[in-house]
Amino acid sequence: MPDALGHLTPDEFREVGHELIEWGARYLESLEEVPVVPSIAPGWLRDQLPPAAPEHPEPWPALLADLDRVILPAIRHWQSPRFMAYFPGNSSPAAVLGELAAAVLGQQGMLWSTSPASTELEQVTCDWLVSLLGLPDAFRHAGGQGGGAIQDGASTSTFVAAVAARHDATGGDPAELPRLRAYASVDAHSSVEKGIRLAGLAPGQLRLVEVDHLRRMRPDALAGAVEADLAQGLRPFLVTSTVGTTSFMAVDPVADIGALAQRHGIWHHVDAAMAGSAGADPALRPLVNDGLVTADSYCFDPHKWLLAGMDCDVLYVADRTKLQAAMSVVPEYLRNAASDSGEVVDFRDWGIPLGRRFRSLKLWFVLRSYGADGLRELVARGHALSLELASRVEAHPKLDLVVPAQLALVCVGHRSGDDGTQRLLDAVNATGAQVTHTRLEGRLVLRVSTGQARTEQRHLDAVWQAIDDSA
Ligand code: PLP
Repeated sequence: MPDALGHLTPDEFREVGHELIEWGARYLESLEEVPVVPSIAPGWLRDQLPPAAPEHPEPWPALLADLDRVILPAIRHWQSPRFMAYFPGNSSPAAVLGELAAAVLGQQGMLWSTSPASTELEQVTCDWLVSLLGLPDAFRHAGGQGGGAIQDGASTSTFVAAVAARHDATGGDPAELPRLRAYASVDAHSSVEKGIRLAGLAPGQLRLVEVDHLRRMRPDALAGAVEADLAQGLRPFLVTSTVGTTSFMAVDPVADIGALAQRHGIWHHVDAAMAGSAGADPALRPLVNDGLVTADSYCFDPHKWLLAGMDCDVLYVADRTKLQAAMSVVPEYLRNAASDSGEVVDFRDWGIPLGRRFRSLKLWFVLRSYGADGLRELVARGHALSLELASRVEAHPKLDLVVPAQLALVCVGHRSGDDGTQRLLDAVNATGAQVTHTRLEGRLVLRVSTGQARTEQRHLDAVWQAIDDSA
């Protein structure tokens, strides 16, 4: 029996835990069959549940049964091999087990002293990722000025970078804010504009720079925008390059943008949310890592391609003192000897929340259980699947490959126009797979995202069959 509070005894925890793992294993086995998109109407789940939490403890079998009754019917199956929508949100058994271990330990890693294990493992795993992906050494904790910190998402990292850049440019003087100008391409993720707004600037203080025919930011257009602003006495303070844009997987010319940023003393942030993981395959590094040595900050999402499960982004900075200058506030109640010694990292100064959970544990499990070999294979496979599908699209008389495919994304348009493209989208989604769309200068585009870790050639063949049949 649970105690008076309702705590499970360790033996009961063991028993229920085994059942839950068994439930999880059955779920993983079902992924091949389930249609990705649930067929429920909005409000369905809420209608299944009482309006208030129970007055008395409920038995565990009832709780576990409701996973099947209430939760599964309302799940969109992101872990299905037929999930080819948006970008993937790859979890993995290793990440699940890491989450479980972290939850058991219940750490709060705001300071080194409140969780030495969480803090130091985060430093180690972030450094391991530098090696795994071939990122610049400046991003390492070990032996340098920089380092990485786990955040909840690329949006948060991009916002934190904007706040650090703002502080670097203004020294914290609010009177300087109206003069600030930021830059990103017209195809940069919406989180770039959101970050600028959250940093207290008006949307008009972000200049959206034109792109070339491959949807990459044009450095000459960036230079023109920066020079025009300087001529007006404004203060360019932040440029965000994107490695792997959300719509088209375009890679901005990071080295050229970085050189320009350095010339003008502008903070250079690189958003590589999805594509950054591609560095796990050395063959893809020239595409995704070129020019990163010019970055003041860089982020990517191991929760997209690299199997870490939601949520897990890593923000790297080349100079941690600049980040800490913007973020650090030290109240008396958090002072402690280790922090005062200056010998430890306190991750509360590396982002927004004070309290932090033990996310590095799942990353550690993933990195160790797959190894560099497994992660290289994962990335190479997603990339190869996209190239294979792209070659079929290119050879088809009624279809256009609207941008060259790379890094696990294929963008398709029907030559007859948007009705034709919509027909393809509907046909694929009617099979139980899921793809989503974007627009290229008004034209509807079908996006097939091939980075889901379970997706194999046969799943893509079925999608191609639906496209070909409806073309
Ligand atoms: N940046 C890019 C290029 C993205 O593609 C995405 C999401 O797809 C994001 C940022 C936002 O990522 P997150 O959900 O981790 O905030």
